[in-house]
Amino acid sequence: MIAALAGGVGAARFLRGLVRVVDPASVTVIVNTADDDRFHGLNVSPDLDTVTYTLAGAEHPEQGWGLAGETFTAMDALDRYGADTWFRLGDHDLATHLYRTRRLDEGATLTEVTAEITAAWGVVPRVVPMSDDRVATRVTVRRPSGEIEVLSMQEWFVRERANPPVVAVDFAGASTASPGPDVLRAIEDAETILVCPSNPVISIGPILAVPGIREALIGRRERVVGVSPIIAGAPVKGPADRLMDPLGIEVSCVGVARAYAEFCGTLVIDSGDAMRAAEVEAAGMRVVVADTLMRDARVAAALAQHTLNAVA
Ligand code: GDP
Ligand code: CA
Repeated sequence: MIAALAGGVGAARFLRGLVRVVDPASVTVIVNTADDDRFHGLNVSPDLDTVTYTLAGAEHPEQGWGLAGETFTAMDALDRYGADTWFRLGDHDLATHLYRTRRLDEGATLTEVTAEITAAWGVVPRVVPMSDDRVATRVTVRRPSGEIEVLSMQEWFVRERANPPVVAVDFAGASTASPGPDVLRAIEDAETILVCPSNPVISIGPILAVPGIREALIGRRERVVGVSPIIAGAPVKGPADRLMDPLGIEVSCVGVARAYAEFCGTLVIDSGDAMRAAEVEAAGMRVVVADTLMRDARVAAALAQHTLNAVA
């Protein structure tokens, strides 16, 4: 059995490779839900959907969210009413949110609804939310006036394009949240636990903030292996640097190593960062050097194999 901690795009690309080299039915993906929010009365779970759509081979190839070949007729129609449409939901993607919202309103848990959605997409790995309780990433920013303001993750990232300088990040609701029903068992039963190349602050951070999960990982530390989402001192995509730097995490594979060392025994870093291997080891981790830029599913599969071998 394999467990994997996952955010959105970086994780999804890695998982697409992983399922080429292991039995997909042996994989449980534990997904960040702290980016979840409500738009137009609908429950949207961006990372769960990115992982699901990518494992189904239906993801938008460049956009980083949503479905391939998506249209936005409903959003354009909403503009007529002057509704806020800065968070774009595609017409086909809307069906997922309509379904999820109705099922949650009927009393189903997010774990149950996610199982229904992934089954409908023919996704074989188990995809589970980190928690069925509401956890919300809050980004505290400083305005040009010097004023401090707290934004939701989507307000900061999508509406304001990750521009406002970040002062702090916290995960509202995390301290009283419980891990999803099978999360701890998946970690305990796994031969290998993977920390996907995801944003360390707002994708992996919230998962670790759910009481019990970090402790479970610490107990399995020798079997936990991560892949650095930072290559040559920069994220491959997304705003990880704008979150790591203000929180005092060096934007490099060494910064990732220091942030993960407590619960993760091995880190895979990119070939281009080989000269930093000794510093990763100095942070207390075993280090593996590999090609980690997942240009396509073949590279992702090779990376997944290297990652598994690292703790085999
Ligand atoms: P998000 O929720 O969609 O932002 O997704 P994640 O948190 O899973 O992924 C964002 C992180 O994935 C960023 O920090 C990227 O640097 C990283 N990432 C994306 N593609 C790659 C890749 O090909 N290789 C590596 N090593 N990291 C990647
Ligand atoms: Ca995300």
